[in-house]
Amino acid sequence: MRKISVFGATGSIGQNTIDLIDRNPSAYDVVALTGGANIEQLARDAKRLNADIAITAHPDRLEDLRAALAGSDVEVAAGANALAEAAARPADWVMSAIVGAAGLQPGLTALEQGATLALANKETLVCAGTLVLDTARKHNARLLPVDSEHSAVFQALVGEDMASVERIIITASGGAFRDWPMSKLASATVEQASSHPNWNMGQRITIDSASMFNKALEVIETREFFGISPDMIEVIVHPESIVHAMVGFNDGAVMAHMGAPDMRHAIGYALNWPKRQTLPVERLNLAKLGQLRFQEPDENRYPALRLAREVMERGGLSGAVFNGAKECALDHFIAGRIGFLDMADIVAAVLDRFDAQDNHIDAPMTLDNVLQTDHLARIWVDNAVAQRAGK
Ligand code: NAD
Ligand code: MG
Repeated sequence: MRKISVFGATGSIGQNTIDLIDRNPSAYDVVALTGGANIEQLARDAKRLNADIAITAHPDRLEDLRAALAGSDVEVAAGANALAEAAARPADWVMSAIVGAAGLQPGLTALEQGATLALANKETLVCAGTLVLDTARKHNARLLPVDSEHSAVFQALVGEDMASVERIIITASGGAFRDWPMSKLASATVEQASSHPNWNMGQRITIDSASMFNKALEVIETREFFGISPDMIEVIVHPESIVHAMVGFNDGAVMAHMGAPDMRHAIGYALNWPKRQTLPVERLNLAKLGQLRFQEPDENRYPALRLAREVMERGGLSGAVFNGAKECALDHFIAGRIGFLDMADIVAAVLDRFDAQDNHIDAPMTLDNVLQTDHLARIWVDNAVAQRAGK
């Protein structure tokens, strides 16, 4: 039996992971499941899968969780420290599916134990790529991609030599507003941004897909994960979301990874790696699909893509600035305090402000420095939003 933990078990990726575990429960010994405010879901899954411990991120919900698990022998805990402690419990395979920078610390701790970390939480590599990769190397731990594009690239690279790779092309659906006129984007509502044409995901990543901040994070994730230079990474808009990524080689060959838009493929690939196992995903019928379309992304429409290039050029802690500022701007958009297009404007301004500061971004990449930078980026976004409101 493999010991496994799922961080962010109540979310979209977490529930898809649990769906796969549920299909073969005798293969897994579940150590920790974690969630947020969705106590009932967390307790139900922890009981059914007989987890050692269930943790809610919210300390004020600990008693609710305790009550929901009364009579079972599942331990309960709450808060960020409890999450880190749970990540230190021995496990063979750990799913990192918390949303946002909050996923960084548990992921790092799991790597320090030498666990295989299935990484859905792209923020981990965006905020602290070098630190995360060094930690994995030092502890002989393995990082497996779960983001669909990165899983696709990873699969296209099996048996290949990185030296023969010319480029990596990741696809983007274009999100909710792909076909909207630019003039309407400024007034796009949270509700409109929260519906994705092809994928069923958590609200935050869905809005990030509409703004392409998600793709911007993924470009940086590609650079970190595969260690290739930024100019070898391309983004292409592909409305059908059937081709997840492509790898171009020095002999002109392009290997494309295709599949139905169902995260259980990428999760299952990471869960069963290095083998392939049967997965419950829809099989493609290309004749029925008829056509696959590809378009150049318009950087005027998607300024986040340009910002990702700036971040990669700048390096150091600028990924932590970018992600922290993006997360906070997204909070303000969801709360109705700023418009859809304001998010990129504010993130750009915060990046510039950091750039103008005394080498803050070049400080060593320690967990403390990453967390402090993330915190400061959020304060600056709050200030920028308050300033706009005051005008
Ligand atoms: P979600 O919002 O559906 O779920 C997030 C999970 O994290 C929940 O369990 C929630 O309780 C927990 N959580 C939220 N804030 C937390 C905090 N501060 N501390 C601890 N736990 C917290 O999100 P999701 O769509 O499943 O995405 C999870 C991660 O996977 C994100 O990094 C996302 O970018 C990435 N990802 C998601 C998809 C997808 O299809 N949903 C695809 C690729 C990558
Ligand atoms: Mg993705």
